[in-house]
Amino acid sequence: MKCLIVDDESFCRDFVATLLSATADCHQASSGMEALEKYKAALAAGEPFDLVIMDIMMPGMSGHDAAKAIRHIEKEQKPAKRVNIVMLTALNSSNDAMESFCNAQSAAYLVKPVSKEGLFNVLSKLGLMKR
Ligand SMILES: [Mg+2]
Repeated sequence: MKCLIVDDESFCRDFVATLLSATADCHQASSGMEALEKYKAALAAGEPFDLVIMDIMMPGMSGHDAAKAIRHIEKEQKPAKRVNIVMLTALNSSNDAMESFCNAQSAAYLVKPVSKEGLFNVLSKLGLMKR
């Protein structure tokens, strides 16, 4: 599984990458713009991501906007499958994550601080990980 971890805080990216190190080929982006660039490059190279874990609150382009942009590219380029997007939200903004979920941009969301159990539960529900 190829995974892109997007968060403006490096310790959050590193933490998720550590949790997934045994199961995923993890790449990181520190902003929505960088995430889009990496998403597009992977698609163009024929090695698309299976999973994007996307922080919502980031300076510049938000996780919402980056997720919307990814779905827009998918509409235009029609890759074989849509990437799974899991939004990361702080406790006080889970409504934000729900909004993204309901707009079908993301398949699931996780409330920070991310736990191994919570992350693995979500990934197994999405069929990305065996428990
Ligand atoms: Mg953030």
